[in-house]
Amino acid sequence: MARTEGDTWDLAHSVGASATMVAAARAAASRRAGSVVDDPFAEPLVRAVGIDLFTRIAAGELDPVEGDGGVGFPRMIDTFAARARFYDDYFAAAGKAGVRQVVIVASGLDARPYRLPWPAGKTVYEIDQPEVIAFKTATLSELGAAPTAELRTVGIDLREDWPAALQEAGFDPTKPTAWLAEGVLIGFLPPSAEVRLLDAITPLSSEGSQFAADYGQVAGQSEDERQQAQRVTDRWRELGLDLDISELT
Ligand code: SAM
Repeated sequence: MARTEGDTWDLAHSVGASATMVAAARAAASRRAGSVVDDPFAEPLVRAVGIDLFTRIAAGELDPVEGDGGVGFPRMIDTFAARARFYDDYFAAAGKAGVRQVVIVASGLDARPYRLPWPAGKTVYEIDQPEVIAFKTATLSELGAAPTAELRTVGIDLREDWPAALQEAGFDPTKPTAWLAEGVLIGFLPPSAEVRLLDAITPLSSEGSQFAADYGQVAGQSEDERQQAQRVTDRWRELGLDLDISELT
């Protein structure tokens, strides 16, 4: 279904399902010997969402390589495992530099507040749609997982006044912050909301703050990329998942 102004979702639908896909890749990567990422919460979270294709990827039942039997997304597990590790290292370096406040923007099924060895005194804020935050928090609690830092969740749409909600949750703009926007500045927000997001982060970032993000277009900008997105969508349909990547932006 095409996106609309002010639309909402859970982790099984629309943009929310993209968070489940990325978590499925982290789960599959975590099963590999010597993996660059170890996310023990990814598989149970993906299972709890209940999208059959992503559950099978998370469980290691489908080998998502290109070609026959693959899921159409080239290097899916490697891509998201490498990205997760890159930002794990980013947070470790920020911690060593003395930063004690973290904001994870569009956190999806990211379990870093539960799986990383945060230094003492760390406060981690997570922002995502209310249903996404509520589902992850409840599921991890049912699994008996406990945050490894002081965790404060902010369930709000990033097109709304999230800086006010973040500060109401206790965020202190006078402290240096490590920000992360992983897998969101890729077309999910309208361009004006992307600009507003970055404009809002700047005055909330005191000296010593850091910002990390990836940037691009999930549905592809070139004809080749658009065709690749179409191949992924077609393959997912064959595998029983009706989610058109080009309609997520
Ligand atoms: N950062 C997580 C990760 O890498 O595992 C999740 C990435 S997922 C591809 C994109 C996330 O962006 C989803 O969790 C989705 O709910 C969130 N998102 C996209 N647009 C949003 C919006 N307008 N408001 C709040 N969250 C949004």
